[in-house]
Parts: sequence; structure tokens; C-alpha cells
Amino acid sequence: MATLTVDEFKQDFKDMILRLYAEDIKDSDAHQQFTALAYLLREMYAPNLKETRQRYENDRVKEAYYFAIEFLPGRMLQTNLLNLGLSDVVMTGLLEMGLDVEKIVDAEPDPGLGNGGLGRLGSAFLDSAAALHMALNGNGIRYQYGLFRQTFENGFQVEMPDDWLRGGNAWEVRRENRACLVRFGGNVWMAEDVFGRLVPHYENTTDVLAVPYDTGIVGYHNHTVNTFRLWSAELPTDPSRTYTLQEKQNVNEITEILYPDDSNYAGRLLRLKQEYFLVSAGVQSIVRHYRKHHRNLNHMDLTVAIHINDTHPAMAIPELMRILMDEEFMSWDQAWALTTKVMSYTNHTLLAESLETWPEDMVAQTVPRIYQIIQEIDRRFRAMQVPVYGDDRVNRCAPLGNGTVRMAYLAVIGSHSVNGVAKLHTELLETDVLKDLYRIYPEKFNNKTNGVTMRRWIQIANPPLTKLLDSDVNGDWKHRPLDIIGVQSFANDPTFLKKLREVKVKNKRALAKRIRTHLNIAVDPDHALFDVQIKRLHAYKRQLLHALYIIDEYQQIKAGKDLAVPRVHIFGAKAAPSYYYAKEIIKMINELANLINNDPDVGDQLRIVFVPNYGVSEAEDIIPAADVSEQISLAGKEASGTSNMKLMANGAITLATMDGANIEIADAVGQDNIVIFGMTAAQVQAYTNYSSQAIFDGDKHLQKVVNALIDGTIPNIGREGRDIYNSLLQYNDEYYVLADYESYAKAQDRITGLYQDPERWYQMAAINIAKSGQFSSDLTIARYGDDIWHLTRDQLVN
Ligand SMILES: *Cc1c(COP(=O)(O)O)cnc(C)c1O
Repeated sequence: MATLTVDEFKQDFKDMILRLYAEDIKDSDAHQQFTALAYLLREMYAPNLKETRQRYENDRVKEAYYFAIEFLPGRMLQTNLLNLGLSDVVMTGLLEMGLDVEKIVDAEPDPGLGNGGLGRLGSAFLDSAAALHMALNGNGIRYQYGLFRQTFENGFQVEMPDDWLRGGNAWEVRRENRACLVRFGGNVWMAEDVFGRLVPHYENTTDVLAVPYDTGIVGYHNHTVNTFRLWSAELPTDPSRTYTLQEKQNVNEITEILYPDDSNYAGRLLRLKQEYFLVSAGVQSIVRHYRKHHRNLNHMDLTVAIHINDTHPAMAIPELMRILMDEEFMSWDQAWALTTKVMSYTNHTLLAESLETWPEDMVAQTVPRIYQIIQEIDRRFRAMQVPVYGDDRVNRCAPLGNGTVRMAYLAVIGSHSVNGVAKLHTELLETDVLKDLYRIYPEKFNNKTNGVTMRRWIQIANPPLTKLLDSDVNGDWKHRPLDIIGVQSFANDPTFLKKLREVKVKNKRALAKRIRTHLNIAVDPDHALFDVQIKRLHAYKRQLLHALYIIDEYQQIKAGKDLAVPRVHIFGAKAAPSYYYAKEIIKMINELANLINNDPDVGDQLRIVFVPNYGVSEAEDIIPAADVSEQISLAGKEASGTSNMKLMANGAITLATMDGANIEIADAVGQDNIVIFGMTAAQVQAYTNYSSQAIFDGDKHLQKVVNALIDGTIPNIGREGRDIYNSLLQYNDEYYVLADYESYAKAQDRITGLYQDPERWYQMAAINIAKSGQFSSDLTIARYGDDIWHLTRDQLVN
């Protein structure tokens, strides 16, 4: 924690503005003010960053390196202020200088270096590890353009480039002296050197310079500052040759854009290059760093752990093998034993189409030496396992098959630990998605249910709730996440419940004001229920189910039947630009919004707000104001979900299927404090004779709702309405929307009933907050550290 008085801060801030911009504060703009603040904070934690590094080195502390193709850090200003213990001093100082704090906060670009939950999880882990004094380093790609910025035109999603680095990035430090070369393409063959060792010879390779940019991850009220390293591709600085513009373009494009799809992807060759670029640069720098401080590589597993977050960085396995054998002259067996001890892997998905595979010839051409090593891994795996498990099983799960490299299988075979991200997900990995490998390596499999950082989602996003918890709840919930259970003792205390309600209404008013200002929609924060679904737009997440219910509500109103409780349905969701169906859903919901929000018959009963450009900052505005958290994926499809956790921690009631971590939320809060509906994963699996048409034909009410898609009820969706209608009926409704509809509508009716009794409602909210502690990423990362990486950390008293 830093110490600084308000007056010292004001002087330092003025000086910084002057040094950076040769200006007085009164002439500076919000972006300059943000930048000056960021530089000030960076100066304050820089000594701790250096000392943290030195401590790890001197004490030979084991370090873990978390590799991920995506991170979603969110804005860093408030996080760093909070973690340094400077929020109050700085806020007071800024106010005293007459500056607009909100404008300064908003001037920071929100780095969209991830698509959704996957990237957000990695960033939460970095925050939590620093809070616990754990030596965890992030390794990712410094995309020049993050995930596209979303706007709506005539209800259609329009994608704009996210030029997040345009105004510079105040938090990062370029470390050209730590750059490494990454080799692509060309030919490679093995030949003996003068010592009789087999070494690779390369010709016609394309070499790319990987330059790291480091950002400090400040621990919460401690002295730890860890390193979050993002790699950028540049032309090598080889004075002996010149490069054409085309060559420069080919190199730069490797880190130009994040693929805007979190399940499947386009631009395959470039994506493959991104993946190898990340792992090669990262693993090279780890081995180089290790070599500087230790002699014997054979003991690398005692001080180094490498984590493969989802399949994208799985080539870290053959890359480490390559370095150990080709550059450090280890035998295969030595290198393999070490590699499997160092590597661990998290699987993040149950969608079959998302288990990455690469055409073998593409891998052979792009990274020929890595391909050779994967072939050898495959050959040895088969030689070892076929005698025990037989041809069929081993064929199904070997790294090579059907002319492709199967990244998930490679990751499992080359790691000592494989984890899923919620209990159900891990169970389904073992019994379904990875069952053949589970049979061979049952000891590798374990569960680590995801978590969220309560610092961002309560302390920063929800100051009124923070204040209430601070004043009323015993214990130290900010350091010991489970202490938030103290809220439970107030679940029958009308005074506390009234205060909790005031907190929620305050947050709803703040959101209503933003909605009014930015989107010109009037919503009533005092009477309406805020029903929130915020997540990527994907058919399996079933935003369509939610939308059908809104149509249902609208039809009730048009039939002259008032809603018992007015509702505001809030959506936030980006669709992958190439995901045509998802974009049709967006268009449909926007047109439905347009219809409902402007129909005088509706009055104040119903609104739809589709918040554009959903990202971390938007989530911070929406979540504290949510009454209902929609977690309505088809059971068996959502690996974990994390917005469910953020929302419960902010006192929203979960409306959910028994999917992902919803199951664990239900276990925690009990059936009385969550609203569950729909088929279970087992029921879905067993439902082999599903006919959406039969359900439709047997349900008059449902027919009326679904027909609204095609009968002109909703204007301007001729084509989209027909396509969506056809997906439900002609194509047999892949995600069982119609099968779950009746159950969902009844669950929504239960929500309405509960909401009409505020005391009961806020009692449920209190219990949800009380039970949210177990979903803190502090606890999750402690388990990764203890069970998988064997890192030292602070005691978590819980
Ligand atoms: C938490 C979060 C997600 C993940 O949401 P799910 O509902 O779990 O898919 C996605 N995007 C952002 C910006 C988030 O903050």
C-alpha cells in the first residue's frame, strides 16, 4: 500500500501533467489526466515490481506462467487505485481540483483482447494471484486491434475496429531487450553436429521478432506486483538484410487482430501463426530466464509451471520439447518427463466444434519442426497405449487423426493436470468429450470451478453495496471472501433488507440515467424489475428463449392484460461477425425493442434495452443494477459461466437451467433462493427423439408467440424472422428452445410472484450475496496454486 496525502497527490499530479504535456491542469483533457494518473501510479508501483521479481529470483520461488490467446483485463485505473490503497486520496484530490472523475475513468480505453468469459477468467486470475502473493505471470498477445466495437444501424450489428492503442497505453513498458526470434516455415532436417548430436538445420525460414510489453499486476494492499506480458510481432532488426513492405505487412499481421469468435474461428493459417508465435516467444523467454538463474534444466519443474489455458497454446508442449532437445541437448525421454511435469491444461468448452484441430499439412508447412515433434509424440503414444487399450480407443484420442492435429488431445497427453471449469463440465469431460483419454489418464483429471474477482465486481462496480457490507457485516470480506457469509445473519432483518433495497434502487437509478443519456430510452428504476442477460450472442446461450418470453409479455399487454410487474429486459451481447444466425437474433431483438418501446399501449410496463458494445466496462455499469440474472443455456452446453457469479454477488436472483456453475450456485443458495427451470443435461442427452414441431403443434399459446416472428407483429424482420422461425421448426430447434419454453415461462411467472413481495425478494438477494464468496477467484486461484502448480501463497484464512 502506498502512502500519500491529498496535497502531495495534487502537487504530484500537477507536476506530471506539466512534465508530460507542458500544460496546466485547466488546459488538459480527460485523456491527458488519465494518462498522467496512470504514470503516477506506475511510478509508485515500479519499485515493487522490481522487488517482486528479485524476491522470486533470490528465493527461488516457483513461478507459474499462464498462457492464453485472450485476456480481458478491463480498465486498470480503478483497480490499481484500489489495490494500492489510494482510491480515497486520489478521488478527493481530483474533486478538490474540480476535475470530472467519471470522465477521467471513461477516458481509459477498455482493452478488448478477449471475446468473453475465457479472457475475463485469465485476467481475474492474475488479479487474484497478486492479491495472494502468488508468483503467477500472464502471457498473451498484444493485439493491435481488440474485439470489434459494436454499434447498431437499423437494428443490425455493425462492427468497427477497436483501435485501443491509438492514444498510447500508459500501463505497459516495452522491453525490446527481452525480445526473441520466432521461426516460421521453410525446411528443416536433422543432421549430426561435430559432437555426434542430432541437431536441426533450417533453411528459408521466416523469422519474426517477438517484442514483449509488460504491465504490472498490483496485489491488493500488499507489496506484490506481478507481470502480465503481451507479445507483439515485428520485423527482426537484422542489419544484413532489407525487407519489403509486403514482408513487413506479413509479420505485423500476426498480432494485428483478435479473432472475434470464442468458439470457432476464421483465418485459420493466421490463427495458427498467432498460436505458435505466443507459445514460442513465451516458452523461449521462460527457458532463457531460468538459464540465467539456475544451472540444471532437469530441475526446471521445481521452479517453473506452464499453464495452457484452453487449447490455443497447446503447442507450448512441442515447443518446450524442441528447446530442451534441440537447444539444450536433452534426450527425448528426459525432455518428455520434464515437459509433462511442467505443463498443465484447462479445457473450457463442451461444444464439439470448438475442440481445435489443424490440418496436418498446414502445421507441417507453418511450423515444420513442431510438426515433427508432434508426430513423434503421436508415435510414442500409440506404441505405448495400443497394447493396453487397443487400436480403436487409441485411434480415437491420439494427437494425430483424420489428417489433423488434435490440440485438446495433445494438451492432455503432454500435461500432468487437466481440469474442467465447473463440476458438471469436468464430469462431462470425463464421461463424454475426453472419455478415452480419461480412461488412460484418470489421475490427471480434476475440477476447478471458475471464479470472479470481487474487487472489480463488488468494490469497484458497486460502491453502495461495498459501503453497506463494510458497515454492517462482521469479518474481513475484502481479504477473506467467505466472510461475506455474514450477510446471511441479516436475511431476516427488515432494516438491513431495506438498506439492501436502497442500494439496488440507487444502482438502478444510475443505470437508468445512463440508458436515458446514451440510448434515449426511459426506464423506471423505482418500479420495474431489471431482467438482465449479458454474454456473447450464441445459439446455445439462448437469448432467443428470453426474447420469446418478451413477445409473450407483449401479446398479453396487447390483449388488454396488464403485467403484474413492469419489466425492463436488458441485453448486452456481441455476435461474431461471421455468425449470421446470431446477428439475425440481434436484429430481431432490436426490432422487438423498437416496437415495444414505442407502442403507447405498453405504457411503462415493458422495455427492452440492448446495450451496444458489451464489454467489461458495460458489465460494471449493468451488473450492480440487475434484479434477475438470466443463465438459460441449454443444459450441458455452458462450461461454467461467470456472469452468473458476478450477478449473484451483486444481489441478482438467478433464473437458470441446471448448467455449468449454475448447479453450484443452486447448491450454495438452496432451491428457495434461485429459480431453476428446464431440462437437465442428462434429460437433454436422453432426448433423442425430439420433435420441435410436435411441441409446437401441441401448444396453442406457444404457436402464437412463435408466429410473431413471421406474421408481421414485429416490423422489419421479414428475413430474420423467417430464418429464426425455420431454425425452430424446419431444422428441429438444435438448442431445445421450444422444449424448455413452457418451463421457462412458468419460471418467469415465479420471478414475478417473488418480486411482488419485496421483503422476500431482498431476503433472497441477501442470501445470494452471502453465498457468493465461494465463487471468488481468490479461492479458485489458490486451488490452482495448491493442486496444480504447487506455488507458495499467503494463507487464506477461509
Ligand atoms: C464475465 C464476462 C463474460 C462471461 O459471461 P458469461 O455469461 O459467463 O458467458 C463475458 N464478457 C464480459 C465482458 C464479462 O465481463
